Amino acid sequence: DIQSIKPLLGDKVRQWLATPRPMLIDGKWTPAQSGKFFPVYDPATGEKIADVAEGDAADIDLAVRAARKAFESGPWPSMTPSERGRIIHKLGDLVLEHADELATLESIDNGKPKHVARAADVTLSADMFHYMSGWTTKIEGKTISISALAAPPGTQFFSATRPEPVGVVGQIIPWNFPLLMAAWKLGPALATGCTIVLKVAEETPLSALRLGELILEAGIPPGVVNIVPGFGETAGAALAAHPDVDKIAFTGSTDVGRLIVKAAAGNLKKVSLELGGKSPNIILADADLDLAIPGATAAIFFNHGQCCNAGSRLFVHRSIFDRVVEGIAAEASKIKLGHGLDATTEMGPLISEVQYNRVTGLLASGLQQGAKAVCGGAGFGGSGYFVPPTIFTNTDPSMRVVAEEIFGPVLVATPFDEADCSLVAEANNSIYGLAAGIWSTNTAKAQMLANRLRAGTVWMNCYHVFDAALPFGGYKQSGWGREMGQAVLSNYLETKAITTRLG
Ligand code: NAD
Repeated sequence: DIQSIKPLLGDKVRQWLATPRPMLIDGKWTPAQSGKFFPVYDPATGEKIADVAEGDAADIDLAVRAARKAFESGPWPSMTPSERGRIIHKLGDLVLEHADELATLESIDNGKPKHVARAADVTLSADMFHYMSGWTTKIEGKTISISALAAPPGTQFFSATRPEPVGVVGQIIPWNFPLLMAAWKLGPALATGCTIVLKVAEETPLSALRLGELILEAGIPPGVVNIVPGFGETAGAALAAHPDVDKIAFTGSTDVGRLIVKAAAGNLKKVSLELGGKSPNIILADADLDLAIPGATAAIFFNHGQCCNAGSRLFVHRSIFDRVVEGIAAEASKIKLGHGLDATTEMGPLISEVQYNRVTGLLASGLQQGAKAVCGGAGFGGSGYFVPPTIFTNTDPSMRVVAEEIFGPVLVATPFDEADCSLVAEANNSIYGLAAGIWSTNTAKAQMLANRLRAGTVWMNCYHVFDAALPFGGYKQSGWGREMGQAVLSNYLETKAITTRLG
């Protein structure tokens, strides 16, 4: 219960949570125009841990105005690329300096183990700012030789392209990696010189609000980053539809992604989307099972299965199917569930009661449609939203647990006979195309298979390997555009072609 957690929070976090948290608009911490706050809960106990200002359309409008002013007339657009880079780099340093505090907030807000938040979420967030800070000085145009066929003969021209920031950017993020999703979004938008209104997930606003304080401390000028916590149907919808937002970047469910596209149509703002997944993970007969079994376990159960790229559809060669499924079940049974602040916890709860009911409802549908639960199969009930690792066999593609993204610790395992076209077709038989895994000791065979999978990321003999330098994003209904790497910069840049007549 909350009383037992309190001593583990540390003084700084406890004090920070004791006052209702306002939103960041134009460099100032402000309450919502409506004066409303909403409660934030610890998903491991179901108890309230904080009150946060509830932004809606009026606050989004103020934030967009502040971002527009900062883009048109603030110091940000006139700053040199190297100055901008130094400030973004400093933000990465500050994230590392406050790593323990940020990991604590992430753990109580999202439920993930604090040691995981420290090692993964916080480290990768800082790295994203450090990596992106290097791009400020490396955004280049081209010179282009043109023929200008309709111009008078002999006229000469000099043509060049100039990449420019797209302008005021709206960003909407989910709850599964709250700080990291903020870093993935803010890093490239800042590096390209945009100004931002960030709408954080209503389930997990805390770490981004603390990040907002570090953003000001790093020296990012007022109005460049505005952070508005609030609900999707109000604050999120207002941001997606706002006529003075030039671009919207969204991470979340495919269904809401469709709403974003419709809302963006009003002023035809640019759109990039990181959406859901139902990623195939394939273990070939020649795989090193000492690597593949723990690898496939982590592929689905890391972050309680709440990863858009989770390896949730497992395909195993029939000759090793029983051994692999038993091996993963044995690994899964060793995973210790508990409160994220308990240092021995390996898996926390699901994010909310809504997700608990959704995931346990899907588990029930799997059993009812004839799937066999090798382990797990139902939620624990009681306080906290805990669901044990579940593996289903005896499935077929018509079952909801096979077709739908569950976003929980649920694996469906299917045997295959040959690594041929039918395996490729089955692996690609999804509306999604975010990620895939292949486990094999035959690199050439695995590479040929990788080439045929319709997915934005393929991991071979590994899974969940992310790097700020590697582009990440989806084929098909998993999204538009890429996050991270050089590739993400194009999400936030316009290209201007400038032609000068010579002589
Ligand atoms: P969600 O789509 O319900 O919510 C995501 C964000 O969108 C939240 O901030 C929410 O407030 C906002 N939102 C909700 N309705 C909105 C609306 N009508 N207009 C504007 N904004 C709105 O998704 P979720 O349940 O919070 O997150 C889980 C989903 O996100 C999963 O489907 C998962 O696959 C996906 N996801 C994808 C990636 C990726 O990189 N591809 C990463 C994380 C999560």
